[in-house]
Amino acid sequence: MESAVELEKVSHVYVNGRGAYPALQEISLTVRQGEFVSLIGPSGCGKTTLLSLISGLLKPTAGSIRVYGERVEEGVQRIGYMLQQDYLFPWRTIGANASLGLELLGRLDEAAQERVDGLMNEMGLGGHSQRYPHQLSGGMRQRVALVRTLATEPDVLLLDEPFSALDYQTKLQLEELVAGTLKARGKTAVLVTHDITEAVAMSDRVIVLQPNPGRLLADLEVPERIRGASPLKARETEGFHELFHRLWGLFDGMEKGGGRSHG
Ligand code: ADP
Ligand code: MG
Repeated sequence: MESAVELEKVSHVYVNGRGAYPALQEISLTVRQGEFVSLIGPSGCGKTTLLSLISGLLKPTAGSIRVYGERVEEGVQRIGYMLQQDYLFPWRTIGANASLGLELLGRLDEAAQERVDGLMNEMGLGGHSQRYPHQLSGGMRQRVALVRTLATEPDVLLLDEPFSALDYQTKLQLEELVAGTLKARGKTAVLVTHDITEAVAMSDRVIVLQPNPGRLLADLEVPERIRGASPLKARETEGFHELFHRLWGLFDGMEKGGGRSHG
């Protein structure tokens, strides 16, 4: 299968007035077209840094990053980013927030507006276009953010803990919606989460990072029958708990080993 995202020995060092901090060290990984990959690891292990590098917001200190074969430094337009905070503008209506990405790219023509309206309906926001962000619940706001992200038709979605500020039930509903929507459209996705359950339930593959500096610790395929189920159903599928415990064990080992591994 075609590779969508390719990282080759990517390292990143933050430099500021107090010195240099190595955040990521020699990360090599490939995400295939249409694959849903989760990135998990303790706080500070470099997950957000990795997404910023893939999106091109940050330039790696060393190594190369390619999206569909193009180096990200050359301005790849095929990436959409969704964050924990929805970053909706309070003075714009929901509809105007949803079409903002297209507007900024100068691509908001009639056809694009129809696409936004279609997505709004699909996300259950059809009747809410004229309302303002403060009038919506957290889950609805994240759905607006999802419409805004999908409206620009990115091939790769980077999701940085988009469900972590939501209550449990809303989070489960949104997981279903996001997983279903991205699968149906054949999108490639990289989800950052600190929730092992969410990672297993949503992904084809789970990648574990360890901190100081951020390195790959494990890269596990999710078994076919769990992958084939929706996130809600996946949680009840045979093998789910085994995989959860394996990942849990890796986290536990990191804490006991102080984040250092040998060999
Ligand atoms: P995560 O998302 O896994 O919690 P981050 O990618 O945000 O981790 O951060 C990785 C490490 O890099 C952390 O130790 C963090 O303190 C450090 N870091 C992040 N951003 C900066 C920055 N702008 N300057 C210096 N250090 C940073
Ligand atoms: Mg982060």
